[in-house]
Amino acid sequence: MYSPDFSHYHFTVAERFLRYVQINTQADPFSSATPSTPGQKDLGRLLLDELHQMGLEAEMDAYGYVYATLPSNQTHPVPVICFCAHMDTSPDCSGEGVKPIVHRNYQGEDLVLPDDPAQIIRMEDFPELQQQIGNDIITASGTTLLGADDKSGIAIIMDALHYWISHPEQPHGEIRILFTVDEEIGRGVDHVDLQKLRADVAYTLDGESAGHLEDENFCADQVVVQIHGISAHTGYACGKMVNAMKLAAAVIDNLPGELSPEATSGKQGFIHPLHIEGNVETTTIHFLIRHFEENGLKAYEQLLEGLVKQQVNRFPGAKYEWKCQEQYRNMKYVLDQHPEVVRYAEEAIRRAGLQPVHHAIRGGTDGARLSFMSLPCPNLFTGQHAFHSKKEWISIQDMQKAVQTLVHLAEIWATR
Ligand SMILES: [Zn+2]
Repeated sequence: MYSPDFSHYHFTVAERFLRYVQINTQADPFSSATPSTPGQKDLGRLLLDELHQMGLEAEMDAYGYVYATLPSNQTHPVPVICFCAHMDTSPDCSGEGVKPIVHRNYQGEDLVLPDDPAQIIRMEDFPELQQQIGNDIITASGTTLLGADDKSGIAIIMDALHYWISHPEQPHGEIRILFTVDEEIGRGVDHVDLQKLRADVAYTLDGESAGHLEDENFCADQVVVQIHGISAHTGYACGKMVNAMKLAAAVIDNLPGELSPEATSGKQGFIHPLHIEGNVETTTIHFLIRHFEENGLKAYEQLLEGLVKQQVNRFPGAKYEWKCQEQYRNMKYVLDQHPEVVRYAEEAIRRAGLQPVHHAIRGGTDGARLSFMSLPCPNLFTGQHAFHSKKEWISIQDMQKAVQTLVHLAEIWATR
């Protein structure tokens, strides 16, 4: 039987969230330190205090990662679940002096952010707001991001812990908590100690709309094509010179326009020239190749190499070099081997009263990297919207739904 009763529960997710967003944890891509900015450890220390106050075992390591444990309250063995969120915020938008504002009982009105009245959150720009009538929306004040990405994930996990501790009858196995640093600059799991974590499965809390479940992401390669031409004195180049820049330009010009990031969405992939530099003799192009399937990725690479050959073959003496580097792979390949990880998450979302919506991420995630480090890890919703911008918003009710989802999810794992 399951029936966690949330009707009398005083959720703590909103008050926690409002506290966490006021600590500046903006990541810095130009720093080589870990964490890249000291504020991330300030938040880590606050979380450590709150975890200790709840009576939990918790530690912060030298990199700023916070690990904590909620012991199992079951007598039979239950797989160890990790819930994971990141403490840093995006470098794309200021995180200094965030002033969160709660807009109670939203009725569809424009949300004007007072510190810069030009920043207006309108329903026509964010159709997801149609589902938020009557809810309480939190925004920033107009000059900074809010930091719901991903402090909502942290607040949700902390409130779920608070629920379990105040409801010892609610069944769960051992829960491991991981709060990471520098996710926004691609270093989120660089220093994760999987031995220390010793979890069987993990869920990141970093997804968007209520009910969303992200269990797919791109397969990604980087291809570097170096085109070698033949240099000659321009006055005497007739019949001799082969201009590598012109060959490179022809390759790019012949890319199929429908396979570009600017022309694709949903489950389509692309071939994207990211960077070009060179001269007459040598020109180098960096391409990003993206597709949800590995064989699709390989097909795009063959297509691209065919275009390169075609141009190079037009000029005797011209040559090319091809380097293909794997970046990351679709977590679905790992999750398909552990179907219960996603199935239980769907069930938990349903028990929280929501419709699960599968979503494919057009990029990579920390969860994808963890999945290929042998820790299957889909991404669950937190309710965050318009992340990395001054118009970031989230509703308190959606965060509460995510707390409920975690409580249900742990029960499903404990009683399956
Ligand atoms: Zn995030």
